[in-house]
Amino acid sequence: MRQSQLFSKTLKKIGNEKEAISNQLLLRAGFIDQTTAGVFTFLPLGFKVLKKIENIIRRKMEESPISGQEVLMPVLHPKENWQKTGRWQQLDILFKVKGSGGKEYALGPTHEEIISPLAKKFIFSYKDLPFYLFQIQTKFRDELRVKSGLMRTREFLMKDLYSFHTSEEDLGGYYEKVAMVYLKIFEECGIYNPKALKDRVTYQTWASGGTFSKYSHEYQTVTESGEDTIYICKKCYAAINKEIKDEIKLCPNKPCDSKEFEERKAIEVGNIFKLGTKYSLPFDLKFRDKDGKEKPVFMGCYGMGIGRLMAAIVEINHDQEGMIWPKETAPFQVHLIQIGDDQKIKKATEEMYLNLQKNEIEVLYDDREEKTPGEKLVDADLIGIPFRMVVSDKTLSGDNVEIKKRNEKAVELVKLDKAIEFLKNNFN
Ligand SMILES: [Zn+2]
Repeated sequence: MRQSQLFSKTLKKIGNEKEAISNQLLLRAGFIDQTTAGVFTFLPLGFKVLKKIENIIRRKMEESPISGQEVLMPVLHPKENWQKTGRWQQLDILFKVKGSGGKEYALGPTHEEIISPLAKKFIFSYKDLPFYLFQIQTKFRDELRVKSGLMRTREFLMKDLYSFHTSEEDLGGYYEKVAMVYLKIFEECGIYNPKALKDRVTYQTWASGGTFSKYSHEYQTVTESGEDTIYICKKCYAAINKEIKDEIKLCPNKPCDSKEFEERKAIEVGNIFKLGTKYSLPFDLKFRDKDGKEKPVFMGCYGMGIGRLMAAIVEINHDQEGMIWPKETAPFQVHLIQIGDDQKIKKATEEMYLNLQKNEIEVLYDDREEKTPGEKLVDADLIGIPFRMVVSDKTLSGDNVEIKKRNEKAVELVKLDKAIEFLKNNFN
């Protein structure tokens, strides 16, 4: 894409510099725009990142061992469904809207009230179980206070997976598999370090389990801008959330039993929950077992906030100058920059642009004529595309381009006809 044609522009600064760093950088670089408090537009660069994150998640949800099937459930939920579970009254963040004829709806903040009656239409016998459905859908929460950009919003994109089982044991086994895959997704997004014992960046955190099981789990990315507080065990590095910390004195990771924790700020990027029969009972979701008896279906739900994940990636991957996108989630792989506008430079850069496209390397080409070389380089650092490729009088004098990785200081001169090969070799 030509940067001269890009809809969004970079900003010198944004209004509130007390905001979370991810919000500042995403706004300044033109990835997102705030429509009103807690409501955002994803601009072309941000939308590309969103799609990359979505695709990582979708692939992991579809392949083994998750084996989920994608569906798309409605945003508008009938009031009756929410009355059945008691949550029409109980859930204070529920957005309620009135349609014609006074009919009332909820704007879905989660989809148990839709998926449980849906599953009832297709589950009859133990032979129909287990199965797994997921969606990537916009959700709503009528938050009293919103802040920190994409971290707490009133409208947000989420992946939610639901699983249906004949027994608690089967649910438990699947829950462990989802937990494992979640960490793989965070690793691919550049916010989980599986090799580190101590500094894992994102932690699977013990949280309250509700009525069915003692614990659920959250995924918390440690960052100063985070709104949550987690406690990391100093002995075994298990993490627990604030709720749990208030309930128990000892590390729950048996047999650790340590009393010493380190307090950290964090942002919740996902959670997994054993629902048991909490939603199958009100919706009469049952199956006929091998013994001929009718039994309630066991359910699990597994959420992941996609906008929050984008914010967490930036919180973890940035420096003074701007964002540093991991290649898996970067809007483009190469930022091609033309320095100087005489015909020779222009021709060489245009040729390189075509060549990159021909080789299916995603490229943002800074062809803006009104910008100085300095401004172009500052913008490139802010936007944070993994590879910067400069074509200038100086590089062309040796038939070279200058290539620099966003996360490294060193620049390298590479022959024009070897540039594509160089990139391909360095992508991994
Ligand atoms: Zn411990």
